[in-house]
Amino acid sequence: MNYLSGFLMVTLLFCAACNQAQQARTNVAAATTNLGPVPTPAAADLTKVEKSKEEWQAELTSQEFYVLRQKGTERAFSGDLWDNKERGIYTCAGCELPLFSSDTKYRSGTGWPSYYAPIDEAYIAEEEDLQYGWNRVEVLCARCDGHLGHVFEDGPEPTGLRYCINSVSLDFVPATELARDESAEQN
Ligand SMILES: [Zn+2]
Repeated sequence: MNYLSGFLMVTLLFCAACNQAQQARTNVAAATTNLGPVPTPAAADLTKVEKSKEEWQAELTSQEFYVLRQKGTERAFSGDLWDNKERGIYTCAGCELPLFSSDTKYRSGTGWPSYYAPIDEAYIAEEEDLQYGWNRVEVLCARCDGHLGHVFEDGPEPTGLRYCINSVSLDFVPATELARDESAEQN
């Protein structure tokens, strides 16, 4: 082996090792992204969404209208999101404000989707609810005033809160779609 071919061989081996290292780094990055937190949506515009009863009625399903606009409650274990374990964001079914993340969703055993914190406290309005003689705290969407559910002080750490929310008041956006939306915005 002359000097030149020896040099080429060393260069080739070095490049192969270099590629492998790069590949390993890419894999680590991909794994971290899969397990990492769900991307937080950009700060939302909280300008009030105000519509007449007729407009809401035309826009929402009858069950959505009953829960969001008439403060109804869906039957426990009847909604489509209480047992959803997918990663993603839960938005308001009335105005699409991003309200909760799968990162704070937990199994409460109540039959309603439960979270220990909202995406942003500013997105949630609270009101005292004395209906049925209970002293409960109602939670509403801060943008469209849609009824979401109630918040109780028997949740897990780190907040100790349980946001008990109707599935009907929420829409679910999977994390894979959020990632697509973000890359679409960048292009
Ligand atoms: Zn809303």
